[in-house]
Amino acid sequence: MNKVAVLSGDGIGPEVMAEALKVLDVIAKKYNHTFEFKEGYVGGIAYDKTGLPLPEETIQLCENSNAVLFGSVGGPKWENLPPEKQPERGALLPLRKHFNLFANLRPVKIFPSLSHASSLKQELVKDGIDIIFFRELTGGIYFGQPKKIAEDGKSAVDTMAYKEEEIKRIAVKAFEAARLRNKKVCSVDKANVLMTSILWRKIVTELHEKEYSDIELSHMFVDNAAMQLVRWPAQFDVILTENMFGDILSDEASMITGSIGMLSSASLRDDQFGMYEPSHGSAPDIAGKNIANPIATILSAAMMLRYSFDMDKEASAVEKAIQKVLKDGYRTVDIMSEGQKEVSCSMMGNLIVERL
Ligand code: NAD
Repeated sequence: MNKVAVLSGDGIGPEVMAEALKVLDVIAKKYNHTFEFKEGYVGGIAYDKTGLPLPEETIQLCENSNAVLFGSVGGPKWENLPPEKQPERGALLPLRKHFNLFANLRPVKIFPSLSHASSLKQELVKDGIDIIFFRELTGGIYFGQPKKIAEDGKSAVDTMAYKEEEIKRIAVKAFEAARLRNKKVCSVDKANVLMTSILWRKIVTELHEKEYSDIELSHMFVDNAAMQLVRWPAQFDVILTENMFGDILSDEASMITGSIGMLSSASLRDDQFGMYEPSHGSAPDIAGKNIANPIATILSAAMMLRYSFDMDKEASAVEKAIQKVLKDGYRTVDIMSEGQKEVSCSMMGNLIVERL
């Protein structure tokens, strides 16, 4: 039994989640699998119902599941709550921490039929882009101690620290993923300046020599990587990097695709448990209108099939169905262009299901 905790959250979360569940139901029937979906409250709605953005019952539900499918949280209604009660800070970050989700995977993909939406020149993206980031998520400068502002308010310190084990486990994930793709990893660091980066490069290189010499490994300084992403993004396949560099570079890369409604993500740990979510927020401006793009959430569900349930062929079937719908000219409003057919959120889900 594949148990999935379904945390739809706020704003467009429930709308896009409904379409992902439709797709998973069809996958279950077609490939003879059983999924057990159990819903839990998270974010603003959880605060309204229980007084907490991440109630204990929701944590329990996730603990008793093999994977978490997450919609989005937040909205103006909860913006003025104290920090620990706010949907994003009080739910999303604690969930990642509680479950020790140290590997953040963010695919950055431009489907050739959507290349016009990119912020880059057509000649750079017309054949599509297919990059996946492996960002270390629980270490580095966001967590290192000491981290404080001095009592006189005139100086401050953050600490960037990494241990061998923390580097190794995310590197293993990146190399393993590269084996299922084009066998290319680019490790991004700042080894000309930072001690943590010198260690990072050493550990990645040793691991590569010992266990992954079939993969083509390159190293790039983070400032150069930021330039190369907009100069020639097609050169990249798997990008492996630490927490802060990954935060910045994956956001930069996501803009190359032109639509936040298409970007999925996964946060994983050592076993197969993972949390899967679209990269976008709760989009309060379009919530309740049935016009949100559900593709990011459906692609996140496909990642769940691949990484938590070893269902690679099923995940590919979902991705192909999405490509087919786009090729057939169907678009939600955020990716709409002249000559295409505009469809609602639920219609987009139905069209993907039809092509499965
Ligand atoms: P957002 O991603 O919600 O929206 C940014 C813009 O993109 C909006 O114009 C929105 O309409 C559009 N958009 C987003 N997703 C879309 C989709 N699937 N289809 C079509 N258009 C889409 O970011 P924001 O406006 O900065 O934040 C809104 C709320 O979401 C805030 O409360 C914020 O804290 C929260 N947020 C939550 C998460 C999360 O749950 N992981 C992430 C980011 C922001």
